[in-house]
Formats: sequence, structure tokens, C-alpha cells
Amino acid sequence: MATDYDAPRKQDEDLKEDSIEELQSRRSDQQSGSVDEDEAAAAESFELPGADLSNEELSVVVLPAQEDEFTCGSCFLVRHRSQLAEERDGVKFCFECMG
Ligand SMILES: [Zn+2]
Repeated sequence: MATDYDAPRKQDEDLKEDSIEELQSRRSDQQSGSVDEDEAAAAESFELPGADLSNEELSVVVLPAQEDEFTCGSCFLVRHRSQLAEERDGVKFCFECMG
């Protein structure tokens, strides 16, 4: 009877050792996987404010031309209306580029 109890115990211990090794190997796999997930999540969280910044940059690019200003179609600098030398098909050019 004692051997009957001993035999399954040994098997259980062997199984335990095997499962522990498996768990350890799996844990290391999960750790590396979780690191990747964290990096991915961090990248995503970084992308959101970055997208907002790009939107701000776009609006900044669009905004500078005030009512009394224009963007030169040749040098692409924002010029005061007083520097408007010529307008062709809605594209304005400054004196510097026309001169
Ligand atoms: Zn110009």
C-alpha cells in the first residue's frame, strides 16, 4: 500500500518539477512579451500627443497669413500686403521674388 502511495507522489513531484520548469520558461516568455506590450502601449500613448502636436503645427502653418498678409507663392514666406507685387491665378508673389 505504501508503494502505491509512493509511486503517484513521485509522479506528482516529477510533474511538479516539469510544470515549474515550464512555468519558469513560460514566465520569461511572458515577461519579454509584457515588455513588448508595454513598449507598444508607451508608443501608442506617445503617438497621441504627437498627433495633437502635428495638428497644431498644421494649424500654425495655415494661420500665419493674416488678413493683411499673404504667403508668397515663390519664396513661401509670409509677407505683408504692402509687399504684394503680383497675383497670378490666386498665387501671390512678393516684390523680392518679382524684383
Ligand atoms: Zn517671395
